[in-house]
Amino acid sequence: MKFTTRISKPSIGPLEKAGVLRVLESEYFGMGPETTLFQKQLEDYFGNGMRAVCVNTGTSALHLSLNALSLSPGDEVLVPTLTYLATFQAISVTGATPVACDIDPETGLLDLHDAELRLTPKTKALLPVHYAGNPGDWNALHAFASAHRLRVVEDAAHAFGSTFQGQKIGSIGDLVCFSFDGIKNITCGEGGAVLTKDAATAEQISRVRVLGIQKKASTAHTLSFPEDFDVQEQGFRYHMSDLNAAIGQAQLRRFEGELKIKRVALKKHYDKALEGLSEVRRLNMNEGTVPHIYPVRILNGKRDAAREALHGHGIPTGLHYKPNHSLSKYGGGKPSLPNAEKFYSEALTLPLHPDVGPDLVDQAGSILRDILD
Ligand SMILES: *Cc1c(COP(=O)(O)O)cnc(C)c1O
Repeated sequence: MKFTTRISKPSIGPLEKAGVLRVLESEYFGMGPETTLFQKQLEDYFGNGMRAVCVNTGTSALHLSLNALSLSPGDEVLVPTLTYLATFQAISVTGATPVACDIDPETGLLDLHDAELRLTPKTKALLPVHYAGNPGDWNALHAFASAHRLRVVEDAAHAFGSTFQGQKIGSIGDLVCFSFDGIKNITCGEGGAVLTKDAATAEQISRVRVLGIQKKASTAHTLSFPEDFDVQEQGFRYHMSDLNAAIGQAQLRRFEGELKIKRVALKKHYDKALEGLSEVRRLNMNEGTVPHIYPVRILNGKRDAAREALHGHGIPTGLHYKPNHSLSKYGGGKPSLPNAEKFYSEALTLPLHPDVGPDLVDQAGSILRDILD
């Protein structure tokens, strides 16, 4: 049997289509009532008094969170090297230096012991990445940060819906960033959000997402560009469009009862299909993880052979991620981070999205069983 699917893709139905049509017919595509409503829905979803600020991408959410920390050039941010390039670029655009840290090979998450070795007087923030959706030992991350007086910006791009000890990622913490790009656990087409409990920070991020414009009190509640305003700080054009917000509203409505359940069930099915294979190392993930991707490690130099066999049956695979410290801009491989380098040489991501069927998972399992010990 030959499959045709992708490693990751959105699941789009009548609700999303109706939402887009509604906004098209309104002929208002800026940031307006749909975005306001989506933000409110996110605040209700996360609860705990968190404020949500919607932006145009997850990368912008990270950039504006770091921007809110008023970092100076030369300040350092500790970040795991195993992440999407966007995490590193969001740090470097502020003028701060991303300090790449090694990972725990059993999870793909930041290794705090390695991070501790890289602390300097210039270290200002910790930027953990909830790789594959797993927040890992969230308490340990925050204890480490408070012991060293660091702010914490969480890259939760993979972790929408995941919980830590029963609490949603995004309902706790300092600054938590989500991505709603086309393949994430929920999508807006493109989009992102910052979650924070601090009202002043939420206001500041809301301002700078639209050029730093401060409306006069008399026009503060109008949606359109104000006739009179002031600006005191550098801003950006990072706001969310109502077209994107309408898609996000529909996805959020489908999330707990459908999209999340499918992702969690697929992960369990993969775990079972790969059980007992000594050359396949599955990742340790917390119980409350809603997986964004399903990476495994293929041992004994057999990753590329496994990859080829899967591709032969139309099962696409991915490599998440090329360690950022290996890129010229971020150190060109120095210093060496051996766990992450080995992880990347063994990593293989199998397809996981709401439209992957159980037959694909079973087939992937039997292909790997044929060629591995
Ligand atoms: C997707 C992603 C981002 C960036 O989000 P965009 O919405 O694509 O800008 C950042 N970090 C990680 C780990 C991601 O997967």
